[in-house]
Amino acid sequence: DTQKPAFRRVMLKISGEALMGNTAFGLHPPTVERIAREVKSVHDLGVEICMVIGGGNIFRGLSGSAQGMERTTADYMGMLATVMNALAMQSALEELGVFTRVISAIPMDQVCEPYIRRRAVRHLEKQRVCIFAAGTGNPYFTTDTAATLRANEMSCEAIFKGTKVDGVYDKDPKKFPDAKRYETVTYDEVLAKHLGVMDASAIALARDNNLPIIVFSLDEPGGLRGILAGEGTSTRVHG
Ligand code: UDP
Repeated sequence: DTQKPAFRRVMLKISGEALMGNTAFGLHPPTVERIAREVKSVHDLGVEICMVIGGGNIFRGLSGSAQGMERTTADYMGMLATVMNALAMQSALEELGVFTRVISAIPMDQVCEPYIRRRAVRHLEKQRVCIFAAGTGNPYFTTDTAATLRANEMSCEAIFKGTKVDGVYDKDPKKFPDAKRYETVTYDEVLAKHLGVMDASAIALARDNNLPIIVFSLDEPGGLRGILAGEGTSTRVHG
């Protein structure tokens, strides 16, 4: 095996929808297991792994508030959805023999650990995958911002953002066959051209701390391991 990871500690951000497989809602256990295997393959190389999983497969604050629900309440429901996804990923990883901790921004001690930065760092040093749940703990934010925040706090070298496509394109590659993928793109260009990598607050937080974002396809089998070894196609967002 010649693949050597180019990173020591990383943040992996995946959307809740990535856990749906081809279903329309919620969790698709075989898909969760497939992603867990991808994570294990990287963990086996000795990479310290942080994860943030969204909640969009279960609940999004914005769609709740569009239907008349009070926005902050709807956002708390969205945060709770991310805890469910985190527990599903924990279960799948531990089934594969990978030790994990789910760490919630909103304390719920019977379910998972509260977020204590030094404790989380210690878990990483002990090779436990840390799954950060409940976003930032605040309404009006997204899990992309949570991933960026925790990546900074944990001194991750980069955020790996798994999506349905293998990078950042100038337009939607699923709609426009002539869409062009960026090999690299700056934070400012992402913001100015609304390239939809992550929301603007997440991009700004990454930019202000010089944290690279690597956008890659989660649908590619073995993709995560390759990307961490510096292979395969992706887009690097940088300063
Ligand atoms: N959310 C929030 N604060 C946070 C993170 C998430 O209020 O710090 C809520 C928000 O309502 C969001 C939902 O949780 O719509 C699910 O997160 P997100 O939309 O980021 O999930 P993804 O799109 O990645 O599946």
